[in-house]
Amino acid sequence: MLTSREPLPNLLFEYRGADFILRSRDSHHLRVPKVYIVNSSPVLEQLIQKVLDPPDDAHGEASLPVVQLPESGAILHSLLTFIFPVTPLIPSTTEEAMELLSVAQKYQMDSVLGHIRRAIVEQNPPSTDRDTALHIYSVAQKYGLHREAIQAARILSKYRMNIEDLEDKLDMMSGASLHELRKYYKKVRSILASDLTEFRTSRARGTLTGLNCVEFSSSQIPRWLDDYIGSIGDAINLFDLVEFNTALARHMEAESGNSGCKCVCISGQTVRNFWEALASVINGSFEKVRAIDIDELQLMKLTSLQAESALSLVKERGDSQTRANSATSLPEPLEVPGASLIIRSSDLVNFRVHKPVLAMASPFFKDLLSLPQPSDSESIDGLPVVQLSEDAELLNSLISMLYPVRPVIPKSYDKVLYLLAACQKYDMIQVQSSIRAEVNRGSFPAPVGTEVFRAYAIASSKGLISEMESAAHLTLDHPMTFETLGEGLRLFDGCALRDLSRFRKRCRDNLVTCLESFTRASTRLWPSRIWVGCPSTSDMLPRHLSHLRRRVLPSWLRQLLSRNNNDLKLQAFTQPLVIPSNIRGEYLTALQSHSGCEFCFRVHGMKGSTFCAELESKLAEARDKV
Ligand SMILES: [Zn+2]
Ligand SMILES: [Zn+2]
Repeated sequence: MLTSREPLPNLLFEYRGADFILRSRDSHHLRVPKVYIVNSSPVLEQLIQKVLDPPDDAHGEASLPVVQLPESGAILHSLLTFIFPVTPLIPSTTEEAMELLSVAQKYQMDSVLGHIRRAIVEQNPPSTDRDTALHIYSVAQKYGLHREAIQAARILSKYRMNIEDLEDKLDMMSGASLHELRKYYKKVRSILASDLTEFRTSRARGTLTGLNCVEFSSSQIPRWLDDYIGSIGDAINLFDLVEFNTALARHMEAESGNSGCKCVCISGQTVRNFWEALASVINGSFEKVRAIDIDELQLMKLTSLQAESALSLVKERGDSQTRANSATSLPEPLEVPGASLIIRSSDLVNFRVHKPVLAMASPFFKDLLSLPQPSDSESIDGLPVVQLSEDAELLNSLISMLYPVRPVIPKSYDKVLYLLAACQKYDMIQVQSSIRAEVNRGSFPAPVGTEVFRAYAIASSKGLISEMESAAHLTLDHPMTFETLGEGLRLFDGCALRDLSRFRKRCRDNLVTCLESFTRASTRLWPSRIWVGCPSTSDMLPRHLSHLRRRVLPSWLRQLLSRNNNDLKLQAFTQPLVIPSNIRGEYLTALQSHSGCEFCFRVHGMKGSTFCAELESKLAEARDKV
């Protein structure tokens, strides 16, 4: 097979008997006979027909009709190699190969599509590597290739999926694509769990009969086998003969010498039958996930709203329902006497305003309104109409902020952010700071609970830096997992999610460094120095190291600090990143466990409260300094 390493002009088509030209985006000409193209693509057939109508037999070789296409010459050339009897040519990168597929899909070249897919597999045998699959998934999403997206998602379902593990890959795709992947992942797991239960209780479809073992599960198969099958539901990568043999070996080791266990005698045929049955259950589960959605696909693509859209891998019942219901009645525009301008919302509500008011609030509108009006522009009752891209609800709030009336309060913090973004876009600096003041005063909504994650996503995509920073800090009060992000994940672009997760890690690292500083007591400057001298520490050091005693902290304190440190390292994403508020309680509990030590209780009585206060304030400072 060829790859497109050679310079393009030499490869471009010069087909004998050509009767028209395909011109690429980058102005390459591919001379080809119409009949091949027409036969393979109904979409191109129509395009060609338009150019050739009315039929004109007088075209000479010099003036062949030209059909302009939006693809590059390289991609078109590669596409044609799958139509003409020549050696097919697959682009060398995954990105380009996917683009080629998407072009074939767009022109409805069904047989060519299958042909290209086979050639791609031949050239790059499918990899089960996580990063490769993530890359293919993101590119398939980008080009709208459903089958490739599903295949990659299936490979990815073998891997753990949490934000911390994905961090460096998060910028590869939009939050919307990631959300789809996550939905697929959950669906696979739930279907697999129930199918595997059914498989176990049917004694592995009858393949596991006549076994003798010391312990059977309620499903009447050996306990270890039951556990093994169950474990696949949580970790699909365990569906692997090596893992099966490992489980068997572990069991035989545990039962060695126990004559009741005859698992060592399981026949090869039984294992093969069992394995075949298990494979068919697992394949069946994946097929079920796929079958759910295929015909709903188009619908889903059409119904995504504010959030960035992505190919849907799994259709969830009620998705389109809830969206249809979310349409609310349009707001009643403010009565504005003597208006001189109409601004129209994206959902076609007309708002009457005064040009000078708008011009005073917004240099953007000042410039816009100073331009001479085009003669063909629309007007209503003699007032010029300006079309804006914001919806009526937003414009209603915005306009209420320009006049001496009670401001129309946005219904949610999301809407506050969109309002702030509109102010940013139209240079309405003063209005923007009034809105911020209303939020600070509590008269406009502020983010509640895990809403801060979506607030971060919106603020980041709209370039609202101060809202983004404050939302980022608020996210630390919650776990950062796909569960807490919920639907809000769809609002993230990949970079925003990666940045937020890096921010969290930096905060965590600061907390860790801070806690570590409290484990040191080598000089008088360290706050923990006051605890040096606890008699219990003298037992801990061998005699020849006893000079180090003046640096050693009592074990209750060291344990307290190191436990918090370990928790931070392990749970930065699954728990709120909030040590400062509960550390004092933990300190007291730890100290009580050290009862009977006069030294530590005396230090606690004299300086304990100052020490805790310092610990709390240093930790709070460390968390918030990022
Ligand atoms: Zn056994
Ligand atoms: Zn002590």
